Amino acid sequence: MKTSPPRVLTLNAGSSSIKFAVYRVGDPLLLELHGKIDHIGLDGTHLIFHDTATDQQESLPVAVVDHSAAAMFLIDWLEGWKFFDAIWAVGHRVVHGMAHAEPTFVTTTLVGELHRITPYAPNHLPQELGLIQALHHRHPGLPQLACFDTSFHCTMPRVARLLPIPRRYEALGVQRYGFHGLSYAYLMEELVRLNDPAATKGRVILAHLGNGASLAAVCDGESLDTSMSFTPASGLVMGTRSGDLDPGLLAFLSKNDQVTPALFDRMINHESGMLGISETSSDMRDLLEQEATDVRSAEAVALFCYQAKKWIGAFSAVLDGLDTLVFSGGIGENSPQVRTRICQGLDFLGIELDEKRNAISAPVISTEGSRATVRVISTNEELMIARSVCRAMELSSAC
Ligand code: ADP
Repeated sequence: MKTSPPRVLTLNAGSSSIKFAVYRVGDPLLLELHGKIDHIGLDGTHLIFHDTATDQQESLPVAVVDHSAAAMFLIDWLEGWKFFDAIWAVGHRVVHGMAHAEPTFVTTTLVGELHRITPYAPNHLPQELGLIQALHHRHPGLPQLACFDTSFHCTMPRVARLLPIPRRYEALGVQRYGFHGLSYAYLMEELVRLNDPAATKGRVILAHLGNGASLAAVCDGESLDTSMSFTPASGLVMGTRSGDLDPGLLAFLSKNDQVTPALFDRMINHESGMLGISETSSDMRDLLEQEATDVRSAEAVALFCYQAKKWIGAFSAVLDGLDTLVFSGGIGENSPQVRTRICQGLDFLGIELDEKRNAISAPVISTEGSRATVRVISTNEELMIARSVCRAMELSSAC
């Protein structure tokens, strides 16, 4: 019998980190604990946490060699937290859900399905499944909800999903799925909360610009297209991911540089993007600092801004115009310079930035007269997961 107010745990297993957060259920949801284990599989693995009630913040070294050991360490550690027994349910970020348009409770069937589709997301799904199964093993009665990054894009029309390769691959599930769906869903809920009908009912481009980056074209609240495709390596150039490439490159590199499929996969995911171009950093802050003295950093930033602008142009065409542009993610939320460069010359789309507002990352950074409203919204994927759990468990009308 649980006595304290119910809590919801959110878990987000990345390739080298596990992020967690605990919310107390109420109106609004209250963040009580959050943190992460990072550098998993590398030197210097740490658990960093912040208990918001006591304002205790700590960073503890963690002696684990891999993801499954990190998952066990985290579960042990969370069990020692004072309100662990009040956790009623757990929500997981799951990168790929194929046709799942809604968050789905974890069952043996769902676990089997996720195992089967692991080849679609081999860099993420094994870690996410490992965490789900470790938690189930230790706490079989605790409901777990899978919240898929692909679900938001289930509304995309067929023409946006089709990949122009032989038709038979479609039967294997090869199509555009799109990712960053939890972030996009959160941004759309924020637009509803801001009571902006021009955005919630209108033509919106959402730009999630972080280490991973993508854009989505949304009309009347539904995703019509997005820059990421079959895997999160596609679309816009990113920190270490290449984004879209000439498909002839694989044959060229395999013949001329002995690049195997595994090396190619490593290259496009970990050695390309702004890191590949700059040869120094994947981090936008570093690149902006270095660009005045290092042409490679300047080119990396220029390529990122150029490509983001190209996607905005393409998605404005998809939407037959534009009412709202939203910047989000670490770069989108924090870099006035990058936002200015992306929006330069887009006045023909009705985008006119107010540089004073832009400089302070104000919630609205367009001028009063701008035909399109340009907004900056801090995304919150953890909160989106927690809300989904509350809705699925009917824990609170506030969610
Ligand atoms: P992830 O995709 O890992 O969640 P984030 O959304 O945290 O990534 O974004 C990380 C990116 O945001 C990095 O490139 C970082 O340099 C960039 N960033 C964060 N703050 C700033 C800033 N003030 N100016 C420019 N870039 C920033």
